[in-house]
Amino acid sequence: MATDKPVNLLDLDRKAMEAYFVSLGAKPFHGRNVLKWIHKHGVTDFEDMTDLSKKLRASLSACAEIRLPKIVLEQPSADGTVKWVMELADGQRIETVYIPDGNRSTVCVSSQVGCALDCSFCSTAQQGFNRNLTVGEIIGQVWHATRQMGKAPSNVVMMGMGEPLANFDPVVSAMDLMQDDLTYMLSKYRVTISTSGIVPNLYRLREVSDVSLAVSLHAPDNELRDQLVPINRKYPLEELIPACREFIKNDKRRKITWEYVMLDGVNDSIAHARALIRLLEGTPSKMNLIPFNPFPGTDYTSSPPERIEVFRQKLMKAGIMAILRKTRGDDIDAACGQLVGKVQDRSRRSLVSLRRRQPQELVS
Ligand code: SAH
Repeated sequence: MATDKPVNLLDLDRKAMEAYFVSLGAKPFHGRNVLKWIHKHGVTDFEDMTDLSKKLRASLSACAEIRLPKIVLEQPSADGTVKWVMELADGQRIETVYIPDGNRSTVCVSSQVGCALDCSFCSTAQQGFNRNLTVGEIIGQVWHATRQMGKAPSNVVMMGMGEPLANFDPVVSAMDLMQDDLTYMLSKYRVTISTSGIVPNLYRLREVSDVSLAVSLHAPDNELRDQLVPINRKYPLEELIPACREFIKNDKRRKITWEYVMLDGVNDSIAHARALIRLLEGTPSKMNLIPFNPFPGTDYTSSPPERIEVFRQKLMKAGIMAILRKTRGDDIDAACGQLVGKVQDRSRRSLVSLRRRQPQELVS
């Protein structure tokens, strides 16, 4: 049964795992047991999977492996946020952020190495696109966060590096894994995918997944959104908004979470707020206003807190639940839009970080 390349069991969701064990001549429930060993118990050595027969363990050792991303840098922030830089088998690096909030915690997961969408205010965009992550590389981030923190996170947000809907199948499988009772047991309200609006894939997603939806809006009209989020030229607002409404149509409890980065003098006027109210009329909405997080080389600055508050109040008065997303982890470049995994860029940053904050180098 040995193949050239070992199968990475981290790439397999429940269905795929069951099918794989059947292909080995074992039973689907063996696959479910292994899923549990790996994700619930954190076991990565087949010899420790004590309810598998010796024979099955031997065939696993011959043709399968459990290959995790490697944590190469852990940076704790003053506010409790932790950023991990993870290295993948081919040497690429990605970033994952853990954000504690009282008893709760959120893990912000990357879906690609870099990003192709080129949003003008995002530092991930500046490094360009390298490649999609595999299922194992996506769920591996949650695996590590769970082990590092000693328990599964209460929420996972697909809001790290990359555009998750541009890496559709692996992202869907990884999100299925997050929701599985044998693994992290997160409800559909506790796994959120954030997209800049790849409209056809929003319709596809609704057929195969019931996770929560966040959409990076950032502008109330096409003219401005074309500049800030260039994918808007392909999928303009008149296509995006109906696709989002369709996504939540069958669940009365559901709202779309809109992300709106507050850029000084760009999208933060009362006129913009009014246009936003008109745009979202009739769509169950929650607005997350995000102060712009700066990064080297950007010309943007964040709107001042008073203007953000006026903007927020305007939306609230129109019945749109609007909250200011607290900036977390900005002292370690872990805040929204500050994630970069690229080796060169990263090393430049960590030199500064080393002097300022002494992160723990775990593996050199
Ligand atoms: N590509 C997906 C996932 C990234 S989520 C998406 O666009 O939704 C990261 C969120 O942070 C997005 O809403 C993104 O627009 C926002 N963001 C990007 N750069 C930022 C910055 N410099 N400051 C604040 N928010 C930013």
